[in-house]
Amino acid sequence: MTLTVGVFALQGDVREHLEVLGGLGVRALGVRRPSELDLCDALVLPGGESTTMAKLARTFELFDPIRKRLADGMPTLGTCAGMILLADRIEDGAAGQETFGGLDVTVRRNAFGRQVDSFEGDIDVKGLVEPMHAVFIRAPWVEQAGPDVEVLARVEDGAAAGRIVAVRQGHLLATSFHPEVNGDPRVHGLLVDLIRTT
Ligand code: GLN
Repeated sequence: MTLTVGVFALQGDVREHLEVLGGLGVRALGVRRPSELDLCDALVLPGGESTTMAKLARTFELFDPIRKRLADGMPTLGTCAGMILLADRIEDGAAGQETFGGLDVTVRRNAFGRQVDSFEGDIDVKGLVEPMHAVFIRAPWVEQAGPDVEVLARVEDGAAAGRIVAVRQGHLLATSFHPEVNGDPRVHGLLVDLIRTT
């Protein structure tokens, strides 16, 4: 049976994720309404603007359905703003900023500060053999992770060395960086593996 992986498509870099998923042999589907979410075996929450994404999810009545699917165990990958949307707690969030939650982490929004607003580099990601070329764009990092959270990657050097930038907790995967921009499908591959193993 062909697996269907949705990409939250009300805001954010949707197209790149759909392209990478298409290359993995799954059916990739933009999700804008609850009936589309119902078709999905897994979901990607892309980069974008996390406050806007949460508000649009409320407006389009996707907020509670997504929260429920996450709580029910739907494998989900959150990248950048998507990582923020999966986090149970946010530092430096906007007033009243909501998240879907599920991931027992505190995420610091726009954590890398103005100097290194956007940067890229190769990092090792647990579960991948070769390093990943990681692109960070006004990215968050994980400030604190609960006991069930597995750290998959940390920044290797520079001012932010040691900061956590990729995590997994059960069916939830999150990266501070954008795995979709270079056409490297390996992080999305980890998500597809989760459909089969969780
Ligand atoms: N800074 C953005 C936010 O807080 C995330 C940036 C991104 O997704 N590239 O939502």
